[in-house]
Amino acid sequence: MVIGLGRFGSSLAGELVSRGSEVLAIDSRPDVVQRHADELTHTAVADTTDPESLRQLGVPQFRRAVVAIGTDLEASILTTSLLADFGIPHIWAKATSRQHGRILERVGAHHVVLPEHDMGERVAHLVTGRMLDYIEIEEDFALVKTLTPDEAVDRALGESRLRSKYGVTVVGVKRPGEEFTYATADTVVRKGDILIVAGQKDQVEEFADIT
Ligand code: ADP
Repeated sequence: MVIGLGRFGSSLAGELVSRGSEVLAIDSRPDVVQRHADELTHTAVADTTDPESLRQLGVPQFRRAVVAIGTDLEASILTTSLLADFGIPHIWAKATSRQHGRILERVGAHHVVLPEHDMGERVAHLVTGRMLDYIEIEEDFALVKTLTPDEAVDRALGESRLRSKYGVTVVGVKRPGEEFTYATADTVVRKGDILIVAGQKDQVEEFADIT
Protein backbone atom coordinates (compact mmCIF):
# COMPACT_ATOMS: atom_id res chain seq x y z
CA MET A 1 0.00 0.00 0.00
CA VAL A 2 1.22 3.45 -0.91
CA ILE A 3 -0.40 6.44 0.77
CA GLY A 4 0.06 9.86 -0.83
CA LEU A 5 0.52 10.08 -4.58
CA GLY A 6 2.78 13.12 -4.83
CA ARG A 7 5.96 12.92 -6.89
CA PHE A 8 7.61 10.44 -4.54
CA GLY A 9 4.58 8.23 -3.83
CA SER A 10 3.43 8.01 -7.44
CA SER A 11 6.93 7.10 -8.72
CA LEU A 12 7.23 4.49 -6.00
CA ALA A 13 3.80 2.99 -6.66
CA GLY A 14 4.42 2.96 -10.44
CA GLU A 15 7.76 1.20 -9.99
CA LEU A 16 6.21 -1.42 -7.68
CA VAL A 17 3.44 -2.13 -10.19
CA SER A 18 5.87 -2.37 -13.10
CA ARG A 19 7.89 -4.90 -11.09
CA GLY A 20 4.81 -7.06 -10.61
CA SER A 21 3.56 -6.10 -7.15
CA GLU A 22 -0.09 -5.57 -6.37
CA VAL A 23 -0.40 -2.11 -4.96
CA LEU A 24 -3.25 -0.25 -3.31
CA ALA A 25 -2.55 3.46 -3.85
CA ILE A 26 -4.48 5.96 -1.74
CA ASP A 27 -4.70 9.73 -1.88
CA SER A 28 -7.24 12.17 -0.45
CA ARG A 29 -7.49 14.13 -3.71
CA PRO A 30 -9.78 12.62 -6.37
CA ASP A 31 -7.96 14.44 -9.20
CA VAL A 32 -4.61 12.99 -8.08
CA VAL A 33 -6.03 9.47 -7.87
CA GLN A 34 -7.70 9.90 -11.26
CA ARG A 35 -4.39 10.91 -12.83
CA HIS A 36 -2.72 7.67 -11.72
CA ALA A 37 -5.67 5.28 -11.96
CA ASP A 38 -4.62 3.76 -15.30
CA GLU A 39 -1.07 2.77 -14.36
CA LEU A 40 -1.80 1.54 -10.80
CA THR A 41 -3.52 -1.74 -9.95
CA HIS A 42 -5.89 -0.53 -7.25
CA THR A 43 -6.56 3.04 -6.24
CA ALA A 44 -8.78 4.69 -3.66
CA VAL A 45 -9.71 8.19 -2.61
CA ALA A 46 -9.58 8.43 1.17
CA ASP A 47 -8.37 10.59 4.02
CA THR A 48 -5.92 8.24 5.69
CA THR A 49 -6.08 10.11 9.00
CA ASP A 50 -9.55 8.60 9.44
CA PRO A 51 -9.33 5.09 10.96
CA GLU A 52 -12.80 4.14 9.71
CA SER A 53 -11.85 4.84 6.06
CA LEU A 54 -8.72 2.76 6.51
CA ARG A 55 -10.72 -0.15 7.93
CA GLN A 56 -13.19 0.00 5.04
CA LEU A 57 -10.29 -0.30 2.59
CA GLY A 58 -8.97 -3.38 4.40
CA VAL A 59 -5.81 -1.53 5.37
CA PRO A 60 -5.24 -3.55 8.61
CA GLN A 61 -4.65 -6.68 6.49
CA PHE A 62 -1.73 -5.23 4.54
CA ARG A 63 1.79 -6.33 5.41
CA ARG A 64 3.72 -3.48 3.81
CA ALA A 65 2.85 0.18 3.70
CA VAL A 66 4.61 3.33 2.58
CA VAL A 67 3.42 6.67 3.91
CA ALA A 68 4.51 9.09 1.19
CA ILE A 69 2.81 12.18 2.57
CA GLY A 70 5.50 14.82 2.92
CA THR A 71 4.36 18.37 3.36
CA ASP A 72 1.27 17.82 5.54
CA LEU A 73 3.08 16.88 8.75
CA GLU A 74 -0.05 16.21 10.74
CA ALA A 75 -1.46 13.86 8.11
CA SER A 76 1.89 12.08 7.77
CA ILE A 77 2.22 11.51 11.53
CA LEU A 78 -1.42 10.55 12.14
CA THR A 79 -1.47 8.14 9.21
CA THR A 80 1.76 6.48 10.31
CA SER A 81 0.52 6.06 13.88
CA LEU A 82 -2.77 4.54 12.69
CA LEU A 83 -0.90 1.99 10.56
CA ALA A 84 1.24 1.17 13.59
CA ASP A 85 -1.92 0.74 15.73
CA PHE A 86 -3.20 -1.76 13.15
CA GLY A 87 0.01 -3.70 13.64
CA ILE A 88 1.19 -3.52 10.01
CA PRO A 89 4.56 -5.28 10.16
CA HIS A 90 6.54 -3.15 7.69
CA ILE A 91 5.86 0.57 7.67
CA TRP A 92 8.01 2.91 5.59
CA ALA A 93 7.49 6.62 5.92
CA LYS A 94 8.84 9.60 4.03
CA ALA A 95 10.12 12.50 6.11
CA THR A 96 10.94 16.02 5.01
CA SER A 97 13.45 16.63 7.81
CA ARG A 98 15.39 14.65 10.42
CA GLN A 99 13.04 15.91 13.17
CA HIS A 100 10.04 14.75 11.16
CA GLY A 101 11.79 11.39 10.70
CA ARG A 102 12.36 11.03 14.44
CA ILE A 103 8.67 11.63 15.16
CA LEU A 104 7.68 9.08 12.51
CA GLU A 105 9.93 6.52 14.19
CA ARG A 106 8.40 7.35 17.58
CA VAL A 107 4.87 6.79 16.32
CA GLY A 108 5.75 3.44 14.78
CA ALA A 109 7.47 3.73 11.38
CA HIS A 110 9.96 0.89 10.94
CA HIS A 111 11.89 2.64 8.19
CA VAL A 112 12.16 6.34 7.52
CA VAL A 113 13.37 7.75 4.22
CA LEU A 114 14.48 11.32 3.58
CA PRO A 115 14.58 11.52 -0.22
CA GLU A 116 15.32 15.23 -0.62
CA HIS A 117 17.94 15.21 2.13
CA ASP A 118 19.64 12.03 0.86
CA MET A 119 19.66 13.18 -2.74
CA GLY A 120 21.05 16.57 -1.70
CA GLU A 121 23.87 14.86 0.14
CA ARG A 122 24.57 12.60 -2.81
CA VAL A 123 24.67 15.44 -5.33
CA ALA A 124 26.99 17.40 -2.99
CA HIS A 125 29.50 14.58 -3.33
CA LEU A 126 29.18 14.61 -7.08
CA VAL A 127 29.54 18.35 -7.65
CA THR A 128 32.56 18.86 -5.41
CA GLY A 129 34.73 15.90 -6.30
CA ARG A 130 35.60 13.50 -9.04
CA MET A 131 32.90 11.04 -8.06
CA LEU A 132 30.55 9.92 -10.80
CA ASP A 133 28.11 8.43 -8.32
CA TYR A 134 27.81 8.03 -4.57
CA ILE A 135 25.61 5.69 -2.56
CA GLU A 136 25.60 5.69 1.21
CA ILE A 137 24.97 2.11 2.34
CA GLU A 138 25.11 2.73 6.08
CA GLU A 139 25.81 5.80 8.19
CA ASP A 140 29.53 5.30 7.70
CA PHE A 141 29.86 3.09 4.62
CA ALA A 142 29.57 4.06 0.97
CA LEU A 143 29.90 2.78 -2.58
CA VAL A 144 31.43 5.20 -5.04
CA LYS A 145 31.82 5.27 -8.80
CA THR A 146 34.99 7.13 -9.76
CA LEU A 147 37.71 7.38 -12.40
CA THR A 148 40.92 5.40 -12.00
CA PRO A 149 43.60 7.49 -10.26
CA ASP A 150 46.92 7.78 -12.12
CA GLU A 151 48.83 5.71 -9.58
CA ALA A 152 46.67 2.66 -10.36
CA VAL A 153 46.86 2.95 -14.16
CA ASP A 154 48.43 0.04 -16.10
CA ARG A 155 48.90 -2.01 -12.95
CA ALA A 156 47.08 -4.92 -11.40
CA LEU A 157 44.88 -3.85 -8.47
CA GLY A 158 46.81 -6.12 -6.13
CA GLU A 159 49.99 -4.35 -7.08
CA SER A 160 48.61 -0.84 -6.44
CA ARG A 161 47.83 -1.83 -2.84
CA LEU A 162 44.86 0.55 -2.70
CA ARG A 163 43.34 -1.28 0.26
CA SER A 164 46.36 -0.88 2.51
CA LYS A 165 47.04 2.68 1.36
CA TYR A 166 43.52 4.10 1.35
CA GLY A 167 41.44 1.47 3.17
CA VAL A 168 39.13 1.03 0.17
CA THR A 169 38.19 -2.04 -1.85
CA VAL A 170 37.70 -1.91 -5.60
CA VAL A 171 34.73 -4.15 -6.31
CA GLY A 172 34.13 -3.51 -10.01
CA VAL A 173 35.85 -2.09 -13.08
CA LYS A 174 34.36 -0.78 -16.30
CA ARG A 175 36.31 -0.04 -19.45
CA PRO A 176 34.64 2.58 -21.70
CA GLY A 177 32.07 0.87 -23.91
CA GLU A 178 32.27 -2.42 -22.00
CA GLU A 179 30.30 -4.01 -19.17
CA PHE A 180 31.32 -3.86 -15.53
CA THR A 181 33.48 -6.79 -14.40
CA TYR A 182 34.17 -7.87 -10.83
CA ALA A 183 37.57 -6.73 -9.70
CA THR A 184 40.23 -9.18 -8.53
CA ALA A 185 43.82 -8.62 -7.44
CA ASP A 186 44.89 -9.53 -10.99
CA THR A 187 42.62 -7.01 -12.74
CA VAL A 188 44.74 -4.51 -14.63
CA VAL A 189 43.11 -1.07 -14.90
CA ARG A 190 43.72 1.44 -17.68
CA LYS A 191 43.44 5.21 -17.87
CA GLY A 192 39.78 6.15 -18.31
CA ASP A 193 38.46 3.00 -16.61
CA ILE A 194 35.67 3.56 -14.12
CA LEU A 195 35.96 1.94 -10.69
CA ILE A 196 33.31 0.97 -8.16
CA VAL A 197 34.90 1.38 -4.77
CA ALA A 198 33.56 0.40 -1.35
CA GLY A 199 34.71 1.59 2.05
CA GLN A 200 34.25 3.91 5.01
CA LYS A 201 32.82 7.23 3.88
CA ASP A 202 35.87 9.36 4.65
CA GLN A 203 38.16 6.81 3.00
CA VAL A 204 36.21 6.55 -0.26
CA GLU A 205 35.94 10.35 -0.30
CA GLU A 206 39.69 10.67 0.08
CA PHE A 207 40.26 8.02 -2.58
CA ALA A 208 37.93 9.75 -5.06
CA ASP A 209 39.90 13.00 -4.62
CA ILE A 210 43.27 11.61 -5.68
CA THR A 211 44.01 12.06 -9.35
P1 ADP B 1 5.82 14.95 -2.90
O1 ADP B 1 6.80 15.96 -2.35
O2 ADP B 1 6.39 13.56 -3.05
O3 ADP B 1 5.13 15.42 -4.16
P2 ADP B 1 3.60 15.70 -1.21
O4 ADP B 1 3.71 15.76 0.25
O5 ADP B 1 3.52 16.99 -1.96
O6 ADP B 1 4.73 14.76 -1.73
O7 ADP B 1 2.32 14.85 -1.65
C1 ADP B 1 1.68 14.05 -0.79
C2 ADP B 1 0.34 13.52 -1.34
O8 ADP B 1 -0.34 13.04 -0.18
C3 ADP B 1 -0.55 14.56 -2.00
O9 ADP B 1 -1.00 14.07 -3.27
C4 ADP B 1 -1.71 14.69 -1.02
O10 ADP B 1 -2.98 14.84 -1.68
C5 ADP B 1 -1.70 13.37 -0.26
N1 ADP B 1 -2.25 13.52 1.08
C6 ADP B 1 -2.04 14.53 1.96
N2 ADP B 1 -2.78 14.35 3.08
C7 ADP B 1 -3.44 13.17 2.92
C8 ADP B 1 -4.36 12.42 3.73
N3 ADP B 1 -4.74 12.85 4.94
N4 ADP B 1 -4.84 11.26 3.24
C9 ADP B 1 -4.45 10.82 2.03
N5 ADP B 1 -3.61 11.47 1.23
C10 ADP B 1 -3.11 12.64 1.65
